Amino acid sequence: MTPDSPCPCGSSQGHGSSHRSFDSAVLDYGHCCQPLHLGQPAASAEALMRSRYCAYVLGLEAYLLESWHPETRPVGPVCDASTRWYGLKIESSEEQGESGTVCFRATFRAHGRWQTLHECSHFVKQDDHWRYHDGEADWQQLQPGRNDPCPCGSGEKFKKCCA
Ligand SMILES: [Zn+2]
Ligand SMILES: [Zn+2]
Repeated sequence: MTPDSPCPCGSSQGHGSSHRSFDSAVLDYGHCCQPLHLGQPAASAEALMRSRYCAYVLGLEAYLLESWHPETRPVGPVCDASTRWYGLKIESSEEQGESGTVCFRATFRAHGRWQTLHECSHFVKQDDHWRYHDGEADWQQLQPGRNDPCPCGSGEKFKKCCA
């Protein structure tokens, strides 16, 4: 990942829009999640959520732990090297004062199985830093047919792409 690669979180100009169009230009990593990974405070709960998704993609273990609320922060490794992430879609985000909720869908493949994670994450702002607190998540296994659009988001048929 270089600062001018498209950011894995898929953010385009105009943060906060819940619909990502494939036509709109994806922000560069250096203008999107990288500054947060280097220590800049996230401007919103959604920006923090995107940077955490991005950190899972890039395996930034220390950032994931640091951006986790101390009350709920796990001890051990949180990245799983066998998981590959294919895209993030923010469905809603709201903030009230020091707390925020972001609902999203993310597609990933682990141990040869395609899955979608749907989660509403709760964030708390503490000392000017948003941190992930907890979330309600559910997972759905995908079983793409050969002629279905590939779950990786390439726009190709599954059989011609990742099958
Ligand atoms: Zn980003
Ligand atoms: Zn594919």
